[in-house]
Amino acid sequence: MTHVVTDSCVRCKYTDCVDVCPVDCFHEGPLYLVIDPDECIDCAVCIPECPVEAIYADADLPAAFAPFVELNAARAKEWPVINKRKDALPDADRWKDAKNKLAGEEP
Ligand code: SF4
Ligand code: SF4
Repeated sequence: MTHVVTDSCVRCKYTDCVDVCPVDCFHEGPLYLVIDPDECIDCAVCIPECPVEAIYADADLPAAFAPFVELNAARAKEWPVINKRKDALPDADRWKDAKNKLAGEEP
């Protein structure tokens, strides 16, 4: 079990989630965050904090987001930890309702 950041975070990064994580398992990339599955303790407190509902328990993950399981695990090894909330990306409000944002945008 782990929790997974999905497509809704891409190009938004509101970062409300990182303040509540008790084990600092969020990692920050240029366009979105990921969760380190080796650190996540499945407490679920981050889920209601995300204003765009980007975070799922892996057991509840919609099929369309299945690739994000491996993506979170891989990018968490490469990107630095983020444990303090910061400003969202400048265009976050414009992108927040968009779908399939990662397609063609993999940084
Ligand atoms: S709160 Fe949601 S949109 Fe914001 S950084 Fe966390 S996962 Fe991404
Ligand atoms: S479920 Fe808990 S431990 Fe896992 S990322 Fe969310 S806040 Fe952190």
